[in-house]
Amino acid sequence: MPVSGKLPYDNSNIFARILRGELACNKIYENEFAFSFHDIYPQAPIHALVVPKGKYVSFSDFGATATAEEVTGFIRAVALITKKLSMEDSGYRIIANMGQYGHQEVPHLHMHILGGCQLSHRLALTDS
Ligand code: 5GP
Repeated sequence: MPVSGKLPYDNSNIFARILRGELACNKIYENEFAFSFHDIYPQAPIHALVVPKGKYVSFSDFGATATAEEVTGFIRAVALITKKLSMEDSGYRIIANMGQYGHQEVPHLHMHILGGCQLSHRLALTDS
């Protein structure tokens, strides 16, 4: 179920637990500001998730309140991961779901990096 991306940060969310090492994940990369792992239910041949190490609920929260160092460290990590996964030549898609309409399920900011095949040209699919 989608959650509100504007709620206060919930320390018990799944990605917070992965960051604390309480839940296992298939790790790809980490730096001082970001942590990346494979999505447990991949929606493409490559489906990586990248989360900031700081406690940010959503893209809006991160964009408005993260330090310049955190923003740079996070974006650098995203770019590095696409290189590490050999996605630069073939291309990829990055998505950050936010709040109910964005269908955000985990209330800790995460970028989805999707690739490994030709993706649909449609971005704004609805269930109806
Ligand atoms: P959202 O809908 O919030 O943008 O995406 C949440 C993503 O987290 C989904 O793609 C879902 O498959 C993934 N996910 C949920 N629980 C886990 C987990 O425990 N481990 C990993 N690796 N991914 C998860």
